[in-house]
Amino acid sequence: MRWFWFVAAACMAQEAQPTVVNPGGEGKAPSDAIVLFDGSNVDEWVHKDKRPAEWTVSDGVLVCKSGTGDILTKRAFGSAQIHLEFSTPSMPEAKGQAKGNSGVYLQGRYEVQVLDSFENPTYANGSAAAVYGQHPPLVNASRPPGQWQSYDFVFRAPRCDAEGKLRRPATLTLFHNGVLVQDHVSITKNTPGSEETSPCEPGPLLLQDHFHPEVKDTLLRFRNIWVRPLR
Ligand code: MG
Repeated sequence: MRWFWFVAAACMAQEAQPTVVNPGGEGKAPSDAIVLFDGSNVDEWVHKDKRPAEWTVSDGVLVCKSGTGDILTKRAFGSAQIHLEFSTPSMPEAKGQAKGNSGVYLQGRYEVQVLDSFENPTYANGSAAAVYGQHPPLVNASRPPGQWQSYDFVFRAPRCDAEGKLRRPATLTLFHNGVLVQDHVSITKNTPGSEETSPCEPGPLLLQDHFHPEVKDTLLRFRNIWVRPLR
């Protein structure tokens, strides 16, 4: 058997070792992540017209200032692992889509719904963790309003050929509060109202201000947002 150990040792010597990453933890991004919000400022974000983000930072939390508009990252991303945490406000009077509505647009094009879906039925492909209008979540893993919740995305951007022709649509795997809710689904079209960008180009991460005039300040909160671009 000595020859076996010799061959195994030779193979191990040739194989590149994985890059070491400090995985971070509660409130801390992995060491190789691009941090988009760490609780201190909104420097990574702008509005669609490029003016500085008017959403506020309070006690280390990013608060959606209703009526100011969506915010998007200055950086563009293609395929990526993305993490963010959110908390929907208590809105006992509101129902359905009017209750804690926001969204996370991947590549600026594909909305993953943010909504208070705790005991708040609405159409399935518009509930929390749905790819809006296309894929309802496998289960409803929502926590009650006021509690912190997490989304962990594995997003694969569409693949295009050299002529700019779409060869493979985007795919998404998503965990909501650690529970698998989207299992490698194909996203075949962009969400109505999204950025008019090419599916073949990287795009920003966008957070939706789903302004309801009848509900003045929705006070949706976000924290701990980071991205790890994938090859
Ligand atoms: Mg929305």
